[in-house]
Amino acid sequence: MFFVANHSPHLLAAKAGFQRALRGWFRAHARALPWRESPSPYKTVVSEFMLQQTQVKTVLPYLARWLVELPDFAALAAAPEERVLKLWEGLGYYSRARNLHRLAKEIVARGGVLPRTPEAWRELPGVGPYTAAAVTSIAFGARAACVDGNVVRILARLTADGTEFRDSASAAKVFAPLADALLPAEDPGAHNEAMMELGATVCLKSKSLCSVCPVRSFCAAAAHGEPESFPRLAPKQTERREVVRVWCVRRGALLLHQASAGAKRLAGQHELPTAVQAGLADATVMRGELLARRKRSITRFAITETIFRATPPRGKLGDGLAWVPLAKLGDITLSGPHRRWVEEVLRATSRSVEAS
Ligand code: SF4
Repeated sequence: MFFVANHSPHLLAAKAGFQRALRGWFRAHARALPWRESPSPYKTVVSEFMLQQTQVKTVLPYLARWLVELPDFAALAAAPEERVLKLWEGLGYYSRARNLHRLAKEIVARGGVLPRTPEAWRELPGVGPYTAAAVTSIAFGARAACVDGNVVRILARLTADGTEFRDSASAAKVFAPLADALLPAEDPGAHNEAMMELGATVCLKSKSLCSVCPVRSFCAAAAHGEPESFPRLAPKQTERREVVRVWCVRRGALLLHQASAGAKRLAGQHELPTAVQAGLADATVMRGELLARRKRSITRFAITETIFRATPPRGKLGDGLAWVPLAKLGDITLSGPHRRWVEEVLRATSRSVEAS
């Protein structure tokens, strides 16, 4: 409690006013989101899993499809894993889908009885402190504060705390006691949602909208005139990587690699194989025709991926490799970027065949 007592006395002294201002604003300005209309613990759980590492606008169409096909824990528990992964295709971090599936099975095995405390939820697959607090406060009124990057940003600005944190996760640990101290006894779930909404729509990372902020009068950083300089996070160390991938087509089938079920980010997804996965040397592959060069960032890695047309490997295929008929590509799970790349290369190669 050292942090709470010493860094935010003004805020704690005005706590009731802060809570009122935030709640009043949330009632008037909350976006209409599917998990807020006719809310249910199931919708809250699924949306919280989808929203980890993913923006609201990306999640919305996925959630809509998901709720039509898998409307409750029982339907999700009974669904085949391939179907669950297919519905998740493009959202990334597929271990979330697998954990959600396991969680539903566990809840069904318990006779459909949902745990009601954050501690009990944290024993379920894929549930960390943030998700446990969000689900139990919103669905059951548990007094548990949600602290993610958005909430850290708001609290660091409200207190104008100049500490340099290693990353958002370590800042979240430091700000957790203050987030707890600001939680009202009545409807803590609405308070948590209001904080998330404020972080997502007003207290923005690079252009905070302080002139319309409901808690501006409580904010030390806005008073100093430099809200965007908080929180202070150590610069990220970016590592560059080059990945050489192969495009092998034989008798109307494309060579793909399927990640193992235990792979955290890809878990069972197909991708174009790397040269190494295909049993070929990078240098050999790079002598072939370059079909595409794409850049993307995954966590701290800035990755350049190149796709070369290559001669199919001879003999028995290596682990995880399979020939997938082009006509069946829609039936399998391809990771989001790879589905785009495959479609782009197919379009480009069919155009060049037509032109020749
Ligand atoms: S006043 Fe500005 S910096 Fe402070 S909480 Fe509101 S939007 Fe964020």
